Amino acid sequence: MPIMTQMIFQALFEHSSMGIIISSEDGTIEKTNPYASKIFGYDINELIGQKIEVLIPPHLREKHIVYRHRYNEKPVPRSMGSNLNLMATKKNGMNIPVEVSLSFFSTNGRRHIISFVNDITERKRVEDELKSLTAELESKVKERTKELRDALIELNHTNEGLSQEISLRKKAEQQIRQTLEREKELNELKSRLVSMASHEFRTPLSGILTSVSLIARYHKPEDEEKRDKHIQTIKKSVKNLTAILNDFLSLDRLDQGKIISTPTLFTLTDFIEELVGELKEISEKNQNIVVEHKNREITLIQDKDMLRNVFINLLSNAIKYSPIESTINITTNLKNSQVVILIQDQGIGIPLADQKHLFDRFFRAHNALNVQGTGLGLNIVKRYLDLMGGTIQYTSIENQGTTFEVTLPLGENR
Ligand code: ADP
Repeated sequence: MPIMTQMIFQALFEHSSMGIIISSEDGTIEKTNPYASKIFGYDINELIGQKIEVLIPPHLREKHIVYRHRYNEKPVPRSMGSNLNLMATKKNGMNIPVEVSLSFFSTNGRRHIISFVNDITERKRVEDELKSLTAELESKVKERTKELRDALIELNHTNEGLSQEISLRKKAEQQIRQTLEREKELNELKSRLVSMASHEFRTPLSGILTSVSLIARYHKPEDEEKRDKHIQTIKKSVKNLTAILNDFLSLDRLDQGKIISTPTLFTLTDFIEELVGELKEISEKNQNIVVEHKNREITLIQDKDMLRNVFINLLSNAIKYSPIESTINITTNLKNSQVVILIQDQGIGIPLADQKHLFDRFFRAHNALNVQGTGLGLNIVKRYLDLMGGTIQYTSIENQGTTFEVTLPLGENR
């Protein structure tokens, strides 16, 4: 070998930062480089002549001898990093992790084994630290995930609780609003009742007062006619007041749900004739009331008092809102197992703009304001008919007349 090459090899051997150990086939160490002595804590050349097993942890030495023999039988180069967890023993007895690669060469018919040894204590330490850091990190992540999941569950519970509370509050709010609304309606109703009553009561009451004071003056026998006239005025006014009070009473009882229909069997034709007779008697206007029954002997099972109230209201309106000596037609008919009753007048009619409020409480059309009335009758009529399973419709043209059409079931599922 040229001298230069020999020097380079020598330098490589001397200055390598990897331990190099050359041993004979029987495991005797023949040469070590300075770095190998340093790794194992020996003086330079101190290892020469010793068995390679001196560098193996004591409990593995026997096994190593067996491995060594096997290797000698079939020597192959073995590279580093074959992922073996190898340990070696230093002179002071301390074990260190090492990485070893093996190779061999022969001179003069003798085989020599070269071991390249790396002390990987530091790498292992870093690796272990990394592992424990990773484990710590993983456990922290797990912990945080659990914390997050718990917080999420808690949040969900809180949300559920909150939305329950919100819906409860909304319900309570709605109830309060409804109660307030009802209260407001009631107050409005009361004040309208009071103003209407004071207005409607004043006329009959002052009529009564005038008549009573006049009667007091007519005490001579020849004043009898005048007295009678005033007694009639008083009677009429009292009737008027009674009718208004009856309407109030009906409304109140309807509002409280106290009125239920009590059906009885009766003949419609007789019932209508009776009513018309009564009304003709009290009517001052002398209208021509014409009754026509398309079917004779229609019998009904309905609440007679309620129906009476309905027809008295409709008929007295027809009388009230139409001129003297006009004609009022009443027609009864049977259609599809239902009774249809028409009440037709030639009166002032209901202005189109007012018609949509016709069945509202206290509603009075503006062309009817100089006629006495409370605006309660039609509302009561509609509600009675509802209770009896009936309906009411109308057609009206201002200044020409109005027709109300009442349809009633025969009653008791006939
Ligand atoms: P009231 O007659 O006491 O005012 P109603 O409830 O019976 O109350 O009627 C409500 C309103 O409907 C009346 O004020 C009137 O304007 C109108 N109305 C009812 N019936 C007739 C009718 N036959 N002809 C014209 N207008 C009517």
